[in-house]
Amino acid sequence: MFRLILLLLPLFCAAHVTEPSLYGSGDNVKVLNNETLELELHSSPNCQLVQFINYFCGDCRRFAGTFKQLAWRLLAWQRVLSIYVVDCAQERNVRICRDFDIRKTPTLRLYPPGYQRTEQDVGHELDTLQPEEIYAQLAAFLAKVKYASLGQPNFEPLSALDDRQSLLNECNNSTKYIVLVYQPQSSALGRDTILGLLTWPAVFVRILSDSALFGHLGLKPNKLLIMDCLGGSLSLQPRNDSSVAYVNSVAEYLQAKGYATLMPAATTPAPDVSSHLVDEEQAAILATVLGAGPKTYRADLEQAIDKLLHIELPKARVFEAAGHLALRQLLNVLRLFSPLNRSGNVLLARLHEFVNGSSDALSGAAFQAQVQLQESMLPKVFKARRYVGCIGSAPVLRGFTCSLWTLFHYLTVQSARSSVLPAGYVLGAIHGFVSHFFGCKDCVQHFLAMADRRKLFSVATRDEEILWLWAAHNEVNQRLAGDSTEDPQFPKLQFPDLNACPKCQLQSASNTTWQLQEVLKFLKDVYDAKNLSNYGLPTANGYD
Ligand SMILES: Cc1cc2nc3c(=O)[nH]c(=O)nc-3n(C[C@H](O)[C@H](O)[C@H](O)COP(=O)(O)OP(=O)(O)OC[C@H]3O[C@@H](n4cnc5c(N)ncnc54)[C@H](O)[C@@H]3O)c2cc1C
Repeated sequence: MFRLILLLLPLFCAAHVTEPSLYGSGDNVKVLNNETLELELHSSPNCQLVQFINYFCGDCRRFAGTFKQLAWRLLAWQRVLSIYVVDCAQERNVRICRDFDIRKTPTLRLYPPGYQRTEQDVGHELDTLQPEEIYAQLAAFLAKVKYASLGQPNFEPLSALDDRQSLLNECNNSTKYIVLVYQPQSSALGRDTILGLLTWPAVFVRILSDSALFGHLGLKPNKLLIMDCLGGSLSLQPRNDSSVAYVNSVAEYLQAKGYATLMPAATTPAPDVSSHLVDEEQAAILATVLGAGPKTYRADLEQAIDKLLHIELPKARVFEAAGHLALRQLLNVLRLFSPLNRSGNVLLARLHEFVNGSSDALSGAAFQAQVQLQESMLPKVFKARRYVGCIGSAPVLRGFTCSLWTLFHYLTVQSARSSVLPAGYVLGAIHGFVSHFFGCKDCVQHFLAMADRRKLFSVATRDEEILWLWAAHNEVNQRLAGDSTEDPQFPKLQFPDLNACPKCQLQSASNTTWQLQEVLKFLKDVYDAKNLSNYGLPTANGYD
C-alpha cells in the first residue's frame, strides 16, 4: 500500500481536480456561473428562481434534497419559470456573488423576465426555505408579471374593454379553448387555476373578478366556463370551490375531447446529494489519512488560506469600519503564523500592508485585484491541489469548513507558542471573520451565539484561547453528530477520542471528565508547526 501511495503522490499534484457540486445535469435546475447568470436572467422570457449556494455550507447541503424535489414539482410551471443555481464557493463565481450581494447561503431570489441588475435591485429575496411557503411566494410573484411570449399566460383580470372576439383571438394552433374563471375578491382561485393548467397547452385561462363581465361577453354569470374557438361555451361544474377542483374539472373535459397534458418528464426521480465518486487518488489519500490518526496537513492549511484569499474575502462588496478591522486582524494573524511557503509569507505580508494602508472603505474588487497582482509577481504560492486531512469520502463532504477549523486551531497554537499577540487576539480575528465574511449562514448564527454564551472575549491567556476553540468545536461536533451532512468515514466524535489521547479524558460509568492539561498538551502537539505533514504536496525539492 505504501508503495502505491508513493507512486500516486506526483498525481496528487498534477491531476485536474473537479469542482465539487451539489447539483448536476440531471437535477431539473441549470447550474450557472459568472459568465452565464446575467445573460440568462436578461434574455429569458420567463421568471427565474435562482438559488445561491456555497457547496460547503451545511444548510445548503441539507436543503439540496428539498430544492431538487421542489424543482421537480415546479417543472409544471416551466412555461413561466426557469430554475437556476449559482455556487458562490467556486472561485470563478466570486464577482457575480459580490455583484448580487450574496451575504449568506442558501439565498433564494426571484427575477422577472428580461431582468437587468442595478445597484439597488439585486432581485426579490424569498424569506423562507419551507417548500410550501416558497411555492406560495412564487405563485404571488409569477402572477404579477406581464408575459410577452406565445404560450405564456395572462394573469390580468378581464376588463370591460375586452370583448368576446378579443378572447377568441387567443386561439391558435395549440390553444383550442378559452377558460373563464370567476375570482371573488381577495381570492387566488383564478391565479391558481391558471398555474394548475399550465401543463395543458390546449387552454388559455382568463380571470374575471367582476361577475357582471360575463354578461358583457354575452354569457350567463358562471364560476367556471369553457369556450371553444368557434364561440360555443359550456358551464363546468367543479366538485368544490378550490383551484384543484377547477383544474380537475377542466382537465376531465379536455381528456374527454382527446387532449393530453404536457407534463415534462422529470430528469431526477429522487434527490441524490451523496454520490460516492471517489477516484483512485482520493482512495489512496483517504486510506492514509484514516490510518494516520489526528495530524495536521499543510495541504489543508494551504487550501484554507487559498480559499479565504480567492473566494471568501473578495466576495465582500466593501470592507469598511468593523469589516475593515476584521480583515486587518485576520491578515495580521495569517502573516505572523503563516504555514505557507516563502512566496506565501511574502504575499500575506504585502496584503496586510496593503489593507493597513488602504482607506476605511476598501472594495472587495480592489482586494481581489491586489491578491492577483501580488501573486503575479511571486513564485507560485498555492501548490495544494486537494484537501488531505480534510478529504471527504464523497466530493461535497468535509473540505473547506474542515480546513478552516484546522487553520483556526493551528493559529491558536502558534499564538501560544510565539507570545507575539495578546491573549484573545486570534479568537477575536476568528470572530471577526465569522461575523463579516463567512458565507455559511447556519455556521455564523451558531458560532456567534456560542461566542456570546461561552464568553469568547473573556479569555485571559493564550492557552485558554486554544481550549476555548477546542471546546467550542466539540460543541459543534456534538450538535452535528448523526446529521445528514456528516461524512460516515469521519463521524463527529468528541475530540480527541480515547484512542488518540488516552490521558485526555477520565471515563466513569456515567460521564467523561476532560483532563484539560492533557488536552492542551495534545492540541499543542497535533497543531504544532514543527509537526505539520507535507503529505500530498509537491515536496521533491522541499517545501518552498
Ligand atoms: C466556525 C465554524 C462553524 C461551523 N458551524 C456549523 C454549523 O453550525 N452547522 C453546520 O452544519 N456546520 C458547521 N460548520 C462546519 C462543520 O463544523 C464541519 O466543518 C463540517 O461538517 C465538516 O466536518 P469534518 O468531519 O470535516 O470535521 P470538522 O468538524 O470540520 O473538523 C476538522 C478536523 O478538526 C479536528 N477536530 C475535530 N474536533 C476538534 C476539536 N474539538 N478541537 C480540535 N480539533 C478538532 C479533527 O481532526 C477534524 O477532522 C462550521 C465550521 C466552522 C469553521
